[in-house]
Amino acid sequence: MRITTPRWTPGDGAMRAVALEVLIHGPLSRSEVARRLELSPGSLTRLANPLLESGLLVEAGEQADGKVGRPQQLLDIVPGSRRFVGMKLTSEEVLGVTADLRANVLATESRKLKGTDPAAVVEVIAELAKSLMRGQPEVTAIGIGVGGLIEEHGLVRSAPFLKWNDVSLGSLVEAATGLPVIIENDLVAFTEYEHWFGAGRGLDRFAVVTLGAGIGYGLVIHDEIVSNDEFGIGLIGHWPLDPFGPVCSEGHRGCAKAILTDSAIAQSVSQALGKPVTYKAALNLAASGEPAARRIVDDAGRGLGRLLAAIANLTMPETVVIGGEGVRLASVASEAVEMGLRADRDPRTRPLPLTIRSGDNVEWCRGAAVVAIQTFVLGHRTDQH
Ligand SMILES: [Zn+2]
Repeated sequence: MRITTPRWTPGDGAMRAVALEVLIHGPLSRSEVARRLELSPGSLTRLANPLLESGLLVEAGEQADGKVGRPQQLLDIVPGSRRFVGMKLTSEEVLGVTADLRANVLATESRKLKGTDPAAVVEVIAELAKSLMRGQPEVTAIGIGVGGLIEEHGLVRSAPFLKWNDVSLGSLVEAATGLPVIIENDLVAFTEYEHWFGAGRGLDRFAVVTLGAGIGYGLVIHDEIVSNDEFGIGLIGHWPLDPFGPVCSEGHRGCAKAILTDSAIAQSVSQALGKPVTYKAALNLAASGEPAARRIVDDAGRGLGRLLAAIANLTMPETVVIGGEGVRLASVASEAVEMGLRADRDPRTRPLPLTIRSGDNVEWCRGAAVVAIQTFVLGHRTDQH
């Protein structure tokens, strides 16, 4: 068993809790931090002082407090005090970002893979890391998102798109870079960004749906991502949406994979028009009113709406974030999505707030940076006991 331990963490448990509260929710007044963590003002001062001295926290001005009449001193994190690298591994390239402690992206870069042999991939990852770190303050840790089954934040148990089984990617990249490395399923990473710094920040429950080559689903409940060792299989991909739809590779008629993936939509439109059409072209045709493409894309949109309704009915999220490289479906077919969503919900339900992401690959890399940030701030991953 392999456990990645960062070289520096913000102090003991209580001190870490202060850093974490300010990182995720700051700037916060001292009294608000004390209230949230049930600390006396004296204890908070004792815990915050070393964090202020180390440069991780800073006094960020004052806020008028109506009740007491005395302005409240604010505490905030210094996002630039630490640097992290986040990467996303695809079958053709490695994409990377440098990010600060709040996952603000400072630089982006990518490198083409020369092959998918682990040694060749690690070489490209190390080159990219070196290039991303050039001219930057010292990087604390590297996070890498991989679409597959990941164990112990280091071992790629299986990643079919690379034809990998049991590759100790974490140790290999640590050896090549000399830095702590966290490997995580890419969808977990994407969801953790939304959890700490994105649309799910401060919410009790929210879900993530990603569209693209596969259909991804992430769920956070009571401040914890719901996951198990099957997470990387892509469990929502075979959710039934249309009893008369096309058949997926596993023989399901009208499952999410058969209707919503970019290849499924491109294939249906190509078939209808009798010529090969890419996903992007299919959506463009639908947007311009081409009848066959419009119908197919709207059917997919209605399917997406039904999927969102199922998620809303079963898990009661406060918002659903939609992302992934195929996310444009949600906007091109927005009316159909709305119809599908309404059709499967009780009329008394409130409208489900949706947050649509850009679909840029940087979003995956930012998520990978967040799992590195979490490891740094928590001292370990929350699910690593
Ligand atoms: Zn299926």
